[in-house]
Amino acid sequence: MDGVPSGTTATCACCGEPQKASDVVRLGCRPDIAVCGGCVYDLAGRLVAGPTITPIFPVNDMAAAREFWTRAGLQVDEYGPEYAFVRYGTAELLHLDLRRDLEPERNAAACYVRVSDPREWQRRWKDRGLPVSDVVVQPWGMVEFSVKDPSGNLIRMGAAAERGPK
Ligand SMILES: [Zn+2]
Repeated sequence: MDGVPSGTTATCACCGEPQKASDVVRLGCRPDIAVCGGCVYDLAGRLVAGPTITPIFPVNDMAAAREFWTRAGLQVDEYGPEYAFVRYGTAELLHLDLRRDLEPERNAAACYVRVSDPREWQRRWKDRGLPVSDVVVQPWGMVEFSVKDPSGNLIRMGAAAERGPK
């Protein structure tokens, strides 16, 4: 992925791995302690007793789907020619399921992804040539944008509008 510019690294206090500053969160009570997204995801999985949810997106062209999600900066791991996992760090964001008869313009599949920094995601994906919408503040209080993959799967990505760096 992207090179790590000097001066922007942080060391995860949990796994001890060097991380880009944008890939860690700092504890509110102890900003000197940084934890990477992978460790936060793992810790959250231990905390939450309920299920975690991963959408399964139908795709009519696995190669095009792989190209799209790789261009988005995510890792695509194929389970086989007809199934793949899309990961962000150690977090599983999506599954891709080959459906050759899928008509993208009739595909109504969608998912909502909550992130802390939707403007940053939108800028990054726009820079990489993904067909993202503008970021808008919705009447229901979310800052969000959306993007469709080549199979017509809709991803809306947002955060609560009032939240932000203090
Ligand atoms: Zn870590």
